[in-house]
Amino acid sequence: MRKEYLGLDKHHTYDRYMPLATSKSKFTYTEAKDLFFKSIKHLDKDFQDKAQTALEDGYVDVYETDGKQTGAYSWGSINEHPYILLNYDDTLNNVFTVAHEAGHSMHSLYSAEVQPVATQNYTIFVAEVASTFNEHNLLDYFIKNSDASREDKIMLLQQSIDDILGTFYRQTLFAAYELKAHELAEQGTPITYETLSGIMIDLYKEFYNIDITEENGKEFIWAYIPHLFYTPFYVYQYSTSFAASLKRYELVKEDPTNIQKHIDLLKSGGNDYPVNQVEKAGVDLTSKAPFIAVVNRLNSLLDELEVALKE
Ligand SMILES: [Zn+2]
Repeated sequence: MRKEYLGLDKHHTYDRYMPLATSKSKFTYTEAKDLFFKSIKHLDKDFQDKAQTALEDGYVDVYETDGKQTGAYSWGSINEHPYILLNYDDTLNNVFTVAHEAGHSMHSLYSAEVQPVATQNYTIFVAEVASTFNEHNLLDYFIKNSDASREDKIMLLQQSIDDILGTFYRQTLFAAYELKAHELAEQGTPITYETLSGIMIDLYKEFYNIDITEENGKEFIWAYIPHLFYTPFYVYQYSTSFAASLKRYELVKEDPTNIQKHIDLLKSGGNDYPVNQVEKAGVDLTSKAPFIAVVNRLNSLLDELEVALKE
């Protein structure tokens, strides 16, 4: 689709960095909060109240200032109201950052309500389910119910699609690479840069049907992913937690009363292994269902993008 729209003869992996549209819309911080609150209006009152509490005045450092750290995050201490750091700049992307970070703070608030000190902290795995759930929900709300411009829609849909490709498929490819490389080491096979590049070349063929030897250096991608060196067998959890989040969202989308299980998941803090925690919330990561949910989401976003590009 991108190849056709951009009029390219051939699609390379780096073409995915070409935006199909750029949103020029501006949203004040108040408007951002409002959009987020409206997006969860159909969900349980308690969930809405938690969202309000998470973004309460005094607990969010909203704008850029001299010397302030970049980026955005939610931070808190045991039994304390969590704080959010933003560098809000009125862009549409930042609207989604507000929803994302609010998800982390809501998670902390819920966990503190139920969990004792020892199990109040949660894993990154469950944390990103809490935050990206809000983003999936806001995206659907924004596309369907607000007066989003054509550029807004295309940009958001493209980003969400790229997010699935980058977080789900690409990280799975890296995990497959890692497994192969470690297997070779276990067998005592000498590892050279040709061996490692060879694995990548094969995997890109298998995953994307792309010949990366045409891209001048792309076969060395294994050398510039720090996780592969410093945190072995870490990348797979990007894919698995993304799948868990999407399945959780799908359940609520089908039936808004399913938000209760989502709230229970947030309340469970770090009281069990993540796989067990999400299982209790209706997401069985030992089955195919969560992964199929990602594939279905990709299909429906592509359909929406196709329509938006023709508008
Ligand atoms: Zn996050």
